[in-house]
Amino acid sequence: SRPVTLSVQLHPYGRGRKLLLSRDVTALEQAEVMRRDFVANVSHEIRTPLTVLAGFVETLQTLDLQEFERQHYLGLMAQQADRMQTLVSDLLTLSKLEGSALPGLELRASVSKLMRQLEADAMSLSEVIGANHEENHHFEFDCSFAGELVGTFSEILSAMSNLISNAVRYTPVDGEIKVRVHQLTDGRLEFSVADTGPGIAAEHLGRLTERFYRVDRSRSRETGGTGLGLAIVKHVAQRHGATLSINSTVGQGSVFSLIFPASRVA
Ligand code: ADP
Repeated sequence: SRPVTLSVQLHPYGRGRKLLLSRDVTALEQAEVMRRDFVANVSHEIRTPLTVLAGFVETLQTLDLQEFERQHYLGLMAQQADRMQTLVSDLLTLSKLEGSALPGLELRASVSKLMRQLEADAMSLSEVIGANHEENHHFEFDCSFAGELVGTFSEILSAMSNLISNAVRYTPVDGEIKVRVHQLTDGRLEFSVADTGPGIAAEHLGRLTERFYRVDRSRSRETGGTGLGLAIVKHVAQRHGATLSINSTVGQGSVFSLIFPASRVA
């Protein structure tokens, strides 16, 4: 049995009588708690890079550094600024998704065009991450569907690229990443991203799409994560009537799939 919060008021009712009115405000209260948590999380996420940034500014102001040392600190400062930019951009994406009308049924996204763009982005990201390792992830892109999806191209692209970016960021550079699109026998369309990364323990799976939920906070930060990627994926999925399924085995890897209903396949 869940706890219930009642708001109780006494209303004047007739001569000298009072009516006791009670209202269930549990949902309102829960929304308020969630809102407060969210603001606290955002503040924390912004404060950390800001503190680091302010620290480096002070270093530059107070120490008489050589040029190469100055460059080193400026590089670190740029990283923190980047981090804040990514965070703000993810927050804006989420708030746009929440505030805008559902994608119209007249919108079409070409699946092969989506895949071409995803492939190009994945290569660049892997190159950036693998730059110091002289190695890149091994990618496989497999698309056996040439049609269209009913939905917003930019949203679907953003959901898929978040999944691919996670695979790239959490999988060691010598690992494998397979991106696949295929139509199921019942007509639904499945996009899947499989990696040979660290995998995720079962107890975390149910919470991964919560904003700012991370299995390993420091690993997420190290690779430029904001903790909002899967929250964005979940929103896009909901807006398109799609389901997100996650299968993962610790030590072996993960598979994230977005499955669009047959009614969205054109
Ligand atoms: P982040 O920006 O931290 O990656 P996400 O919302 O995209 O945030 O993901 C939430 C958490 O799920 C990550 O912090 C990470 O712990 C875990 N995760 C997501 N994708 C993968 C993956 N492919 N392999 C292992 N862990 C993952």
